[in-house]
Amino acid sequence: MAQDLQAKDFQAGDFQAGDGQRSGSGAVAGLLERIEQPAALADAQGAIVAANGAFCRRSGLELAALRQRGLQALCAADVTPLLQGAVASLSSELVTAPGAEAAIPLALTRLPATNGPEVVWCLLELLDQRVTLADLDNLVLARYADGVVLMHLQLLQLDLVRGRLGIAACEALIEEIAHRLETALPAGGFYSRQGGDRLLVLLPGAMGIDAVRDVAGTLLASLEAPTTVLEHVIEPSLNVGISRAPDDGKEFSVLLEAATRALEETHRQPFPSCCIASPVERSVQLQQLLARPLALAIEQEQLELAYQPIIELETGRVIAAEVLCRWDDPVLGRQSPADFIDVAEATAQISSLGRWVMERAFEALHRWDGAGLQLGKICINVSPLQVQDPSWSSDLLTALERHQLTPGRIVLELTEGSILEMSDHVANQLRDLRRQGFELAMDDFGTGYSGLQRLTELPFSEVKIDRSLISAIDYDQLQQAMLSAVIRLSDATGIMVVVEGVERSRQRQMLLSLGCRHGQGYQLSAPLSDLELEALLQSQITAEA
Ligand code: C2E
Ligand code: MG
Ligand code: MG
Repeated sequence: MAQDLQAKDFQAGDFQAGDGQRSGSGAVAGLLERIEQPAALADAQGAIVAANGAFCRRSGLELAALRQRGLQALCAADVTPLLQGAVASLSSELVTAPGAEAAIPLALTRLPATNGPEVVWCLLELLDQRVTLADLDNLVLARYADGVVLMHLQLLQLDLVRGRLGIAACEALIEEIAHRLETALPAGGFYSRQGGDRLLVLLPGAMGIDAVRDVAGTLLASLEAPTTVLEHVIEPSLNVGISRAPDDGKEFSVLLEAATRALEETHRQPFPSCCIASPVERSVQLQQLLARPLALAIEQEQLELAYQPIIELETGRVIAAEVLCRWDDPVLGRQSPADFIDVAEATAQISSLGRWVMERAFEALHRWDGAGLQLGKICINVSPLQVQDPSWSSDLLTALERHQLTPGRIVLELTEGSILEMSDHVANQLRDLRRQGFELAMDDFGTGYSGLQRLTELPFSEVKIDRSLISAIDYDQLQQAMLSAVIRLSDATGIMVVVEGVERSRQRQMLLSLGCRHGQGYQLSAPLSDLELEALLQSQITAEA
């Protein structure tokens, strides 16, 4: 798959060094030829150093002519800065050619079609999301200020076709769908293949739901006409999730998430279908679907808790654990906390859910204390709606006493977004609890557009940096600079920094070198059951003995 290719796959020997003119050797050419779509390799100046046949065919130029033209000449003017940004961010992944004086920063890109954003998507795909979503957000915002429709398409028969007729047939089918898209798209629209069975379509202009339905209907009709692949007649069928700007959001990342969620909704249907995202519609649907089963789950104690360790990055020691609620409904299946917490908040069940979480977590911490396991703190997610409940804070104190815990062992996590809308009453309650010794953490920092000064408005003892801010920390200098600034401020004010979503060891190394001491994420540990956490704490004690 194209996504598998990254700069790190290129070895020094892949390049012939010499008089400053670099040329792609067999290995690079071979890698590029593995990408069936047009693909080229450019250096930091945008000069093309290698290209595959599809790229040459699409551009109508021989490789030698392409080398003279350079990437920038091929790109729409307004995406060039983005491209340069991507190239620059790649320069941390350096490949040194033997004999060359300097390392060669490399970037892969595909030939743009007639319009710019496709380049960006291609880059995104090939560079494994090295172009940040913020870049895309800006691009979509700038280009489609009036509105845009994003369709996330999934071709359904691909597995079947692959199993019965082989990969060549799969590719032929996708090629056919892409060809139909090219001809059927309304003016100004374009598509991008996302790898696997997914395609994205972008249509410029604001559209109401009915208009979108019409366009989607026409598009699907053209895509779903029968076709012959390797002498077999196939009737393609597609699921489609659709989102619209500005109704569902203005940023590309938000739109993509909404369209993907809408696509996931179609999976509930037994037949191919099209679902248009609407935040309001969706939350109403979720409420209707989940409210009663959730009430039952809380009442019958069917919820469970997972504990995700928070780790000292240098030593790997578990210093705390975040308590995460889990719900696996016997009929509806496993539900995402993002969904059911929303429903609990909207249907006034968050207090009872929160109380249950608190009881179970305190009980577990008390048990671990009794067993001599050394878990310093537990972190509990708190919704401001809970804090508003007049009995919440006294329930908290009673439960704490019952389980013989001190307030300093409990971190109350409040999301940055929720703090923005917090009433004075809630803020005062939290100040009061902080005075009593509870820790307060600002969760998901970086998602609420609120800036560093928010950190000083409540007496936070901890800030949890959202994973979106460190997703590219191992190679993105902007993210590195931003995190350094947060760390400096936090150090100066005595606020502890925990970074969320550490997924790669290179992120961990970079975090350490930036002076960040604590992290949470799949690379460090996934959320664990209570037994798994107990075993981890026990092994830590054994190792230290
Ligand atoms: P959160 O408080 O920011 O929790 C961290 C989320 O990130 C968890 O998602 C966790 O599973 C996920 N995560 C951890 N490491 C990684 C990683 O390396 N990569 C990625 N991509 N994700 C990682 P989860 O469990 O789905 O919870 C989602 C949100 O739901 C939580 O975000 C929290 O805001 C809320 N939530 C969960 N349990 C409760 C609860 O008991 N009460 C309240 N009020 N909210 C809760
Ligand atoms: Mg949290
Ligand atoms: Mg968080």
